[in-house]
Amino acid sequence: MFGLAIHGGAGTLPRAEMSGEMERKYRSGLAAALDAGYALLQRGGTSLDAVTRAVTVLEDNPLFNAGLGAVFTLDGRNELDAAIMDGGSLKAGAVCGVTHIRNPIELARTVMEHSEYVMLSGAGAEEFALTRGISLVPRSYFYTPERWRQLERIRSGDAGLSALTISHVGTVGAVALDGAGRLAAATSTGGMTGKRYNRIGDSPIIGAGTYADDRSCAVSATGHGEVFIRAAVAHDICSRMRFGGRTLSTAVREVVLEELPALRGEGGVIAIDRHGKISMEFNSEGMFRASRRSGEEAQIAIYRL
Ligand code: ASP
Repeated sequence: MFGLAIHGGAGTLPRAEMSGEMERKYRSGLAAALDAGYALLQRGGTSLDAVTRAVTVLEDNPLFNAGLGAVFTLDGRNELDAAIMDGGSLKAGAVCGVTHIRNPIELARTVMEHSEYVMLSGAGAEEFALTRGISLVPRSYFYTPERWRQLERIRSGDAGLSALTISHVGTVGAVALDGAGRLAAATSTGGMTGKRYNRIGDSPIIGAGTYADDRSCAVSATGHGEVFIRAAVAHDICSRMRFGGRTLSTAVREVVLEELPALRGEGGVIAIDRHGKISMEFNSEGMFRASRRSGEEAQIAIYRL
């Protein structure tokens, strides 16, 4: 048994504003990432490779708020965060506040595999990238007209829209179980549109936006990062399974539908356990998501089914 689930963020357009053509584009972006990661699992690849691949494909798609499509900070820059975790060894790698890295998930993985650290930020992370042969891209690489327009709406004080909604699409992430029974999780983001410069969200925080433990499950989150950090969302879900005897879906529902709303935290998670069971839950209007388990068809969805 193996399986992969991915998300493209919980900050979807309200259903009424989503045109058929937009929806098709998002669905095909999700399908491309899912297929790329799933193909690796099918060939006997590791869950770490599958989540890295799926997230890289989403980072390169300007529709999603990660890599190329990253949103802007209030002062008009792009600062990217990413994390990855291996559920067997509990090794993890993360980068935050990077501004010249095309694929932050690749750098997070390099931090995990080729440094003595878990998290590197800003200029230090980028210098480390160079020492490992990862080249830097100019800041202009991350400029997309759509994201700039969203920043301008935030700057003009368009109060009718929440920060998540105006981002249109949030963070990206992937969780996987491979044929050898190993779990992995990965998350990558541009953060929230109009964030203060140097603000760090939950995505690169191990235990908040990203966590994997072969004894329970792998989780990648998307939503209002400050609340997800305070609720230690990803680790809480794993702990409810490991110490509280919950099933994956109960653990996920308790955190996403009870703990987070109590703190007014909007968003959702994708998770997979060591039996290949997948849970994708959100308390926002929608969450871009897709999944596929061995022997089954792919599922792609945006709003509630
Ligand atoms: N969780 C991300 C952050 O707070 C944003 C998102 O998922 O849309 O940086």
